[in-house]
Amino acid sequence: MHSSGFDRRDFLKKLSAVCGGAFFIGLANSGNAEAEAKADKGLVNYRFAGCNDGRNCVHCRFFQPGSGDGCAAMMEATCKVVAGTISPMGYCDLFAATASE
Ligand code: SF4
Repeated sequence: MHSSGFDRRDFLKKLSAVCGGAFFIGLANSGNAEAEAKADKGLVNYRFAGCNDGRNCVHCRFFQPGSGDGCAAMMEATCKVVAGTISPMGYCDLFAATASE
């Protein structure tokens, strides 16, 4: 694993495993893995909330708070790699800790 806590190869392996591979062939060959496609929540075992040893969306490098302040920003949160709105306390198979964690 890289010192930033994010291993792009490991991430692509997880993504490929949950999506059957074909979906991410182009992604693996690109230089910008985070911007090209988003996975369906069901394919990555997304859960809206739950204890996951602190490995929740709010601590994930792919988490994107919504616009606005406080609760509004959290209620409209999205993910760089998973489609749709997400919860800060959610989690999925693609979790990757932020560099600071
Ligand atoms: S845990 Fe999954 S859904 Fe949550 S921010 Fe990370 S990649 Fe996105």
